[in-house]
Amino acid sequence: MKVGIVGSGFVGSTTAYALTLEGVASEVVLIDIDVKLARAHAEDILHATPFSNAVKVYAGDYPDLKDARAVVIAAGVSQRPGETRLQLLDRNAEVFRQVIPRILNYAPQDVILVVVTNPVDVMTQIAVRISGLPPERVIGSGTVLDTARFRALLATHLGVSPHSIHAYVIGEHGDSEVLVWSSATVGGLHLEDVARILERPIDDDVRKSIDEGVRFAAYRIIEGKGATYFGIAAGVARMLRAIRDDERVVLTLSTLNPEVEGVEEVALSLPRVLGKGGILTTLYPDLSEDERRALRRSAEILKQAAVELGY
Ligand code: ADP
Repeated sequence: MKVGIVGSGFVGSTTAYALTLEGVASEVVLIDIDVKLARAHAEDILHATPFSNAVKVYAGDYPDLKDARAVVIAAGVSQRPGETRLQLLDRNAEVFRQVIPRILNYAPQDVILVVVTNPVDVMTQIAVRISGLPPERVIGSGTVLDTARFRALLATHLGVSPHSIHAYVIGEHGDSEVLVWSSATVGGLHLEDVARILERPIDDDVRKSIDEGVRFAAYRIIEGKGATYFGIAAGVARMLRAIRDDERVVLTLSTLNPEVEGVEEVALSLPRVLGKGGILTTLYPDLSEDERRALRRSAEILKQAAVELGY
């Protein structure tokens, strides 16, 4: 499978590296406005191929997307001193207005766009609007990583493999995200029951510490090393494997939803079945009243940002 990556900074290049080490793609083309940067990353990653998989990794330009199955969009600009969140968003929207028509000019008609640029939900909404593609083929990485963090922290607390834990983070990939505790299960049993059986109860302190561990992970990582990229790159590689193999795995992904808790036309994450055609189905979770309210708030925050930008 050929994968294009537009924006080869920290996240784009690490995604190319993950795709190579895991052998998800047979060909990866890196595109960036900074051509030297794309070339340097491509060269460096190519040197890992004798130790991993014989992936063709190279820096290219938009015409190289002509037979790409999926294109990852990780292009974006960073905040200038004194710049507001909305001004930054507007500059990122401008990047998307530049790159998406170029991608669509060359990529196959049934290409899948995987949006990773933050704030990923608003950027996904913008990508749906600019591209005119059906929302099931414009997929934001959304809370794919937040859900992984939630499962990992529950696994550590319970002493059970994260693979046996089904628990989701939905809504915004960011401060207003919603950890769905009420329908979390382990081995087919409710989380609370399993916690009691294992004598690892989930009291308010545990709940708070896991919630903060998930919700504020990015802040801690950025404070320590300036950016986050390993986790998200692994998440994007997971998405692309599901697309390649028509796996139909359930992941929490963002795309434009017709309606969420009364808020119309808003991009945010929900559990979705992912296969070769993109998102096949959305599985709207059972929610408690509090979770429902929190999801509505998350939807309203995202909708307002999209409206302010004119999308
Ligand atoms: P992140 O940590 O999110 O990866 P970076 O700043 O490292 O952030 O990466 C963003 C990349 O997007 C940069 O390499 C930048 O050159 C690239 N980029 C910005 N604007 C464009 C554009 N119009 N076309 C292609 N790439 C772009």
